[in-house]
Amino acid sequence: MSQIDELLAANQRFAATFRPITDRRPRRHLAVLTCMDARIDVLEDFGLQLGDAAILRNAGGRVTDDVLRSLAISSHVLEVETVVVLQHTKCGLTGVSQDELEEVTGASLSFLTIPDHAATLRADVALLAGTPFLSPITAILGAVFNVDSGVIEEVVCWKRDE
Ligand SMILES: [Zn+2]
Repeated sequence: MSQIDELLAANQRFAATFRPITDRRPRRHLAVLTCMDARIDVLEDFGLQLGDAAILRNAGGRVTDDVLRSLAISSHVLEVETVVVLQHTKCGLTGVSQDELEEVTGASLSFLTIPDHAATLRADVALLAGTPFLSPITAILGAVFNVDSGVIEEVVCWKRDE
């Protein structure tokens, strides 16, 4: 059975007992931005249930134009007020340079490498906090997930002044 056949067969079993969630708004008014790394289970890591949070993922969990687009909708349409930006240890964007990634991929893209977790988290949280159209967002946590211990370490916590 091919990978794709396996996926579709597994979905048939899943759908047999599926219970839909009718409200598309995240119950906890929360969005989590994190890396695409397969070792991160956002719901498990934060004790969340399906339906609690909007989850945005990309390489590195960095703030990109597309993340801003998604958070504009999350905050204004889906009532998201809290955002978590979660990087992680042993990320493929650490210990590698822009030039190296251009070479490996053959793509002239901005890869948003992570030379330093604290510095990039502070920059990304500041970017979100300073984006005028994200005004419904009142709190932002920047943190690092340790893929060896499962522990999440807070790096920066921003709250909007009332
Ligand atoms: Zn990563």
